[in-house]
Amino acid sequence: MPSVLQKPKSIFKALLDIVLPPVCYVCGRSCSSKYGLCDLCLNKIRLCAEYGSKNPYIEKAWSCSYYKDTIKECIHLFKYKGYIGLTDIFRDIMIDFVKKHDIDKNIDLITPVPIYPTKKRERTYNHAEILARSLSKNFAIPIDAKNLKKIRWTRSQSELGREKRLKNVKDSFLIVDKGAFSDKCVLLVDDVYTTGTTINECAKVLRGAKASKVFSLTLARGV
Ligand SMILES: [Zn+2]
Repeated sequence: MPSVLQKPKSIFKALLDIVLPPVCYVCGRSCSSKYGLCDLCLNKIRLCAEYGSKNPYIEKAWSCSYYKDTIKECIHLFKYKGYIGLTDIFRDIMIDFVKKHDIDKNIDLITPVPIYPTKKRERTYNHAEILARSLSKNFAIPIDAKNLKKIRWTRSQSELGREKRLKNVKDSFLIVDKGAFSDKCVLLVDDVYTTGTTINECAKVLRGAKASKVFSLTLARGV
């Protein structure tokens, strides 16, 4: 298991790297990869192809990998344990995927799936926004991270079956400035696509605000 020494911590971490060689975020073996993962864990990442979407408001739902092994572990560390250093590998996986599928050519605006403000205060960041910002920067596509809002707290979708998931997120998102998405082809960005219920609910309100099309891109797809 990762120790506190593996958490990326600015100058303190840089000094530690000199004294103690870096170890893998996931398994704790020593590693030289710039991503902070050993070769064994890196090789367990299974990249996958594009997917269609069964959800009515999403044109296409792309996922870069499967939600298992290293990716699952890394997303958990990134989302709940503050391992922001994992942004680098997530960014590179997403950038490669976007290039491979020419996704950037058809997108006017990138929008992260928002989290409820109290959750953001607990975690101090929205993981989806970090991913969305790195894509926006790399492909020079504008980002809007303020006009799609989560307006109420919801239970974690991972605890629920499909029917309850639908009920759980229904009417939990709101558009602040309706003009912001008008006639725009929007790419929603998040970490995991399981049934797509949350992303579909976001897409529904974006289409209601006259977005011309809504696509989604996630790091991983539930298996
Ligand atoms: Zn490892």
